[in-house]
Amino acid sequence: MTQETVFSQIIKGEIPCDEVYSDEQCLAFRDIQPQAPVHILIIPRKPLKSIKDAEVEDKEMLGHLLLVSAQIAQQEGLKDWRTIINTGSEAGQTVFHLHIHVIGGRKLTWPPG
Ligand code: AMP
Repeated sequence: MTQETVFSQIIKGEIPCDEVYSDEQCLAFRDIQPQAPVHILIIPRKPLKSIKDAEVEDKEMLGHLLLVSAQIAQQEGLKDWRTIINTGSEAGQTVFHLHIHVIGGRKLTWPPG
């Protein structure tokens, strides 16, 4: 059985979200604690815990998520942005349903913390 997460509840409509995009493979919504003027999460409807759990059969879906992330960033008016996938708690992952962060709208520094 797959673990229930806040994101699986959002997919099922049990928790509201500020949706910016939706299709048969993914859903995108604004992060509840934005780290920049634009901070959007793109999540697959398939309940993968992290990119570690992705398999060859997920290749097309993962490519789709990246293309959607770029489309959304540009729709939000971003010229430059950062695309982030935190993998594992030591890397800052707090929700164990794969998600892509799109962050932009301010100058971003490197390296990340
Ligand atoms: P990560 O730390 O990479 O796992 O990212 C999880 C992100 O989900 C964080 O940036 C949280 O602010 C965000 N988040 C948690 N709950 C919600 C929610 N209900 N709606 C939107 N974003 C959320």
